[in-house]
Amino acid sequence: MKVIVVGSSHGGYETVRGILAQAPETEIQWYEKGDFLSFLSCGMQLYLEGVVKDVNSVRYATPEGMRAQGVHVFTRQEITTVDPAAHTVTVHDLAHDTTRTEHYDKLVLSVGAVPASLPVPGADLPNVYAMRGRDWAAKLKAKTVDPSVQNVVVVGAGYIGTEAAEVFAKAGKHVTLVDMIPRPLGVYLDEEFTDILEDTMKAHNIYPATGQTVKEYTAENGQATQVVTDQGTYPADLIIQTAGIKANTDWLQGILDLDEKGLVKINDHLETSAPDIYAVGDATKVPFAPTEGHEQIALATNARRQGRIAAKNLLGERIAMPPVSGSSALSVFDYHFASTGIKEGTADKFGVKTASIFVRDTTQPPFVPTTAGNTDVYFKLTYAPDSHRILGAQIMAKRDVTANINTISLAIQAKLRLEDLAYADFFFQPGFDRPWNVMNVAAQKALLGEK
Ligand code: FAD
Repeated sequence: MKVIVVGSSHGGYETVRGILAQAPETEIQWYEKGDFLSFLSCGMQLYLEGVVKDVNSVRYATPEGMRAQGVHVFTRQEITTVDPAAHTVTVHDLAHDTTRTEHYDKLVLSVGAVPASLPVPGADLPNVYAMRGRDWAAKLKAKTVDPSVQNVVVVGAGYIGTEAAEVFAKAGKHVTLVDMIPRPLGVYLDEEFTDILEDTMKAHNIYPATGQTVKEYTAENGQATQVVTDQGTYPADLIIQTAGIKANTDWLQGILDLDEKGLVKINDHLETSAPDIYAVGDATKVPFAPTEGHEQIALATNARRQGRIAAKNLLGERIAMPPVSGSSALSVFDYHFASTGIKEGTADKFGVKTASIFVRDTTQPPFVPTTAGNTDVYFKLTYAPDSHRILGAQIMAKRDVTANINTISLAIQAKLRLEDLAYADFFFQPGFDRPWNVMNVAAQKALLGEK
């Protein structure tokens, strides 16, 4: 059997790995239109902050390593069209500007997305950057040490924008963090958390300018110098746009069924509208456990799970993608946080009625000194008021207690209720924890009706 995999990031890599693990005799052709195989943008902040020294190490696979396992690896080769009836793709060899046709028995598309560009004047100026992929990583790195860059404006205060802001603040720049929504990280955290993080950001030279719409990037001598919003004007030697993504699927129009955002429509077995073609990753939606609907949740974790399942299914199994909850974690300077599922701030978007309980506690018993790691922990549990079904949670502390959120993610997937969580068995050791884990405490308080 011959399988063609398109795209070499998380989804493509995991598909290839999955096929190799189960059926190494499969003929695999793996295509990447860029010149670098398997760059992982998730590692970008670590590279930009100098924790990881070599940009070329931010990857899981090398062409040589994959070829040694029998995979036919093609970089700088773009798949430009598919003929589902003939089971062929057209390959554009970008290095030699030639095209050829390749036959497949099964085709997996993990074509991902590119950063969305804002439809405002000045968005195409040369000092308007993005943060995704190896080329932007190298360009951003150069700007962290460029003394002519003093004022950085990051447009989009989600995870990627917050990472960019922290990188440049740590590099000694003055950073403005602009977003339309009222709070930075507002998609991931409710205000009990973002209030603290906003203060932390300001203390580290990051100034949130939220609840504002960008109108224009003004320029002098061909370079952007200011970001103009409906409420203010911010000086900018460098603008980094991190305001969403756009699926890499224009070329699939009329070939596969796409939704209104250009995402490839798939069923829970990751099959597209054409036989023997699967799609995974950021260009698709995933089943969303809290609502049992489907959502676009652009995370490597989802692409990885889909890639593994696509590999199994194309080899003859019939596995459904498990529902996920959009679990994610990040640090903002000293604070580590994670969240999953639905928050109060996103409940309306999902059309779900929710109730929440917020708990502020300490990570360890009161007799443990802060010098031994004891610190405040903030936890919020969101649930359905009628059924008590767990729908989401957020946690934050100066110690890394983010893994609790994985427990809540599993609770959402398993459709557990407050009653299940209230007395669930979690370990206690004063060096780590309290006799009642903060998740127990929150569920117990919610059942007592405390707000
Ligand atoms: P992509 O990563 O978008 O890759 C698609 C690849 O396909 C690209 O290399 C592209 O060149 C290639 N391609 C596209 N079309 C073609 C074609 N026609 N022919 C040949 N090649 C093609 N997620 C997490 O879970 N945790 C994190 O900590 C995290 N951090 C992130 C940090 C940053 C800065 C960014 C930008 C993203 C982060 N993500 C994180 C999200 C994660 O990177 C994405 O969800 C993941 O990369 C999606 O993988 P993908 O395979 O769908 O596509």
